[in-house]
Amino acid sequence: MGTSPIRKPSNPMVNGFDPSRLDELPDQMQKSIRRRDKSLGPGYRLFYDEPLEIVRGKGVTLFDRDGNEYLDVYNNVPSVGHGHPRVIEAVHQQMQTLNTNTRYVQESILDYSEQLLSTFPAELGHVMFTCTGSEANDLAMRVAKYVSGQQGIIVTAGAYHGLTAEVSSFSPSLGKGVPLGPNVRVIDAPDALRYTSDQGSSSDQGSLQDHLRDQVRAAIADLHRHGIGVAAFIADSIFSSDGVFAGPAGFLRPIVEEIHAAGGLYIADEVQPGFGRTGEEWWGFQRHGIVPDIVTIGKPMGNGIPVAAAIFKPELLQEFGKNIRYFNTFGGNSVAIAAAQAVLDVIRDESLIENALKVGGKILTGLKDLTQNLEQVAEVRGSGFFIGVDLVTDRSTLTPNGEAAASIVNALRQDRILISACGAQGNVLKLRPPMPFSSDDADRLLEGLGRAFKALR
Ligand code: PMP
Repeated sequence: MGTSPIRKPSNPMVNGFDPSRLDELPDQMQKSIRRRDKSLGPGYRLFYDEPLEIVRGKGVTLFDRDGNEYLDVYNNVPSVGHGHPRVIEAVHQQMQTLNTNTRYVQESILDYSEQLLSTFPAELGHVMFTCTGSEANDLAMRVAKYVSGQQGIIVTAGAYHGLTAEVSSFSPSLGKGVPLGPNVRVIDAPDALRYTSDQGSSSDQGSLQDHLRDQVRAAIADLHRHGIGVAAFIADSIFSSDGVFAGPAGFLRPIVEEIHAAGGLYIADEVQPGFGRTGEEWWGFQRHGIVPDIVTIGKPMGNGIPVAAAIFKPELLQEFGKNIRYFNTFGGNSVAIAAAQAVLDVIRDESLIENALKVGGKILTGLKDLTQNLEQVAEVRGSGFFIGVDLVTDRSTLTPNGEAAASIVNALRQDRILISACGAQGNVLKLRPPMPFSSDDADRLLEGLGRAFKALR
């Protein structure tokens, strides 16, 4: 085994392990990371100052190789809980029966599609399946460019939409190493706290909306000036990589009006907030009282089995579908659909959206109580099981404090509670547990957060 030093990335990830500190880790972990680097190469990242080796998961609990238990307050992919028996059974049964593709008629994909579409506003009537959120966004953008006849894309400053060549070109959160496309324009994240305080007014929804409208107008004008036009505005409905911005509800409306007036489409990226995580409805855009032209979904859809999709207003697909053949070898295969059906059933049968509202609300209130006198906490915000805690050096300047966030994330990890951070400066704690997270789990989380905040003082 070579012992050459593993190089520190030039563009570090929020809450990423710094490989130049490899020597500080226990021997076994050092060995595993060296093996990993040897076979997987330098592109991968690990979480936490002390990375974790996870060997098993059940519900909202993860177990390391020594049998230690961790409370999972971060993973949204196992949305109905790690190792949910109904998902396991559905996948097992389907694997024994048949696993094939969308070039054959199968009733299960029809049943699932009808049920999935019934959770969306009536205007959204067709679903096309992919394997990943990136593919769903790639397809959505292809359709938007085709239908609009224009090429421009508008995103928020900290957006992440995926990893293909196309989609990474409109994912500014990947940093300077991944250049934005010449057809991409960036607007401010909807940071009501900083925007309104910059203006000297209190949380004035009107002024945030006006600011976003101005930003989008300027981006559209610039795209036209360059002869590019605007194909789409795409946004994560909870702005997770931007720093978790759930409100004030309605701030997306002026943006969508401007995009439509310019002949572009609005794509709601629901890969993060979708499937009821925000606790009110099935989809995050619904809180803004708008209907997207296209919605993309993924991560929580199959509880870990790769399945994702794009949902369209049917009129958008008429010409596209006639002229362009769509086949995705694994997208929407029989096993993926079986997993997705089980997830949909469990969300309904176990009232997980209601649980997100109730227990998420308890966490939000508990966190506000816990931090109300803390100078380093500017805001606790979120909706349901998507919560952000904005850390600053002090409340008067609101300077983002990524170091404080990192220290809390790592203190909690040592306390066996797993969260992470997000935002442009990595200064926003990101809490996003599997959806069966209970009231007792919330108590344990709040106790741990109490200890971590106390250590910060
Ligand atoms: N959109 C958003 C908002 C995401 O967070 C992600 C993944 N982090 C993606 C798209 C891409 O999804 P995938 O990793 O499944 O390609």
